[in-house]
Amino acid sequence: MIIQQNISLKPYNTFSIDAKAKYFAKFTNVDELSELLNTKHKTQNTKLILGGGSNILFTKDFDGLVLKNELHGIELIKEDKHHYYVKAAAGENWNAFVMHCIKHNYAGLENLSLIPGNVGASPMQNIGAYGAEIKDVFENLEAMNRKDFKIHIFSTNDCAFGYRESIFKTKYKDEFVILNVTFRLNKEPVFNTSYGAVEQELEKMRVKELSIQAISQAVINIRTSKLPNPAEIGNAGSFFKNPIITKKHFDTLKKVYVEIPGYETDELHIKVAAAWLIEQCGWKGYRKGDAGVHAKQALVLVNYNNATGKEIYNLSEEIMRSVKKKFDIELEREVNVV
Ligand SMILES: Cc1cc2nc3c(=O)[nH]c(=O)nc-3n(C[C@H](O)[C@H](O)[C@H](O)COP(=O)(O)OP(=O)(O)OC[C@H]3O[C@@H](n4cnc5c(N)ncnc54)[C@H](O)[C@@H]3O)c2cc1C
Repeated sequence: MIIQQNISLKPYNTFSIDAKAKYFAKFTNVDELSELLNTKHKTQNTKLILGGGSNILFTKDFDGLVLKNELHGIELIKEDKHHYYVKAAAGENWNAFVMHCIKHNYAGLENLSLIPGNVGASPMQNIGAYGAEIKDVFENLEAMNRKDFKIHIFSTNDCAFGYRESIFKTKYKDEFVILNVTFRLNKEPVFNTSYGAVEQELEKMRVKELSIQAISQAVINIRTSKLPNPAEIGNAGSFFKNPIITKKHFDTLKKVYVEIPGYETDELHIKVAAAWLIEQCGWKGYRKGDAGVHAKQALVLVNYNNATGKEIYNLSEEIMRSVKKKFDIELEREVNVV
């Protein structure tokens, strides 16, 4: 176990931001992790757990110790009449894990194909796409307390999952390191094609018999055609959450902007498409230096080459201000700003 100094984080974040970590170390087992968490002397106890770096924006150099998660292993731990219980270590690549499940006919993760990042971060914001969220197939997780190194088990209720939310982003922010996640996957698939684009893609693919493989492929096709590939252009996917506003507010906006897209989350609230709001404010395709808003997807901020995290952050501030001014809606960042 080596603690390196002054390491560029550029290869470790999908935004490709060239921030430096004062100290940097990888851990491959829980003993190494607790030892590193206990390292106080030089690192002033400031520590950051890093997975695939696909939901993070470094706005400055990190003046502490970055701990890169390299915990690996996938295991079928039990099965019952209806389910397989599959445990994956936090450092496993998410999409590789999804592909493993699909290959073994463990159903339930197919709509979440091709989401970047690692398994360990998936409960952090209850990752979701194309009508599915991990909370639907989540069984439990094990996490280490960063102060006393004790390992706790969190059930679905303990995690307080919400829309791109969990207790690890709120009450327990920076308190735990997620070590592994167990998923409850179906033996009999329950196909979820409620999302219009998935249905259309399946038709385009001329799928005769629905399968988890076909749904996964449809999702991969859609994602590849719509979202910028971080290997080609730095980004962290959706930069903002879709805001949830009151119905009253929505109805007032609808009178002026008849096309405003939104759908009911409950009797009193509507979720509005942040991409539409941003586009209406004229940001789609905007570029200032190397920081910009993607030309096809206004929700995605991009680093064309050498933008700093601060430049991306400042652009996000400008976008938030203009959306607030035009629609009286406060956008919230989905990406973790460091
Ligand atoms: C092109 C693209 C498309 C995307 N599409 C989607 C999408 O459809 N749906 C979606 O929900 N997200 C999407 N994302 C966002 C991202 O892929 C997910 O949020 C993913 O789960 C982040 O995983 P990561 O390992 O990269 O996390 P990181 O960016 O490394 O970390 C994110 C946060 O979690 C913390 N963290 C990471 N691992 C641990 C751990 N083991 N224990 C405790 N804390 C930890 C970090 O400190 C940080 O605060 C997309 C991103 C990109 C680049």
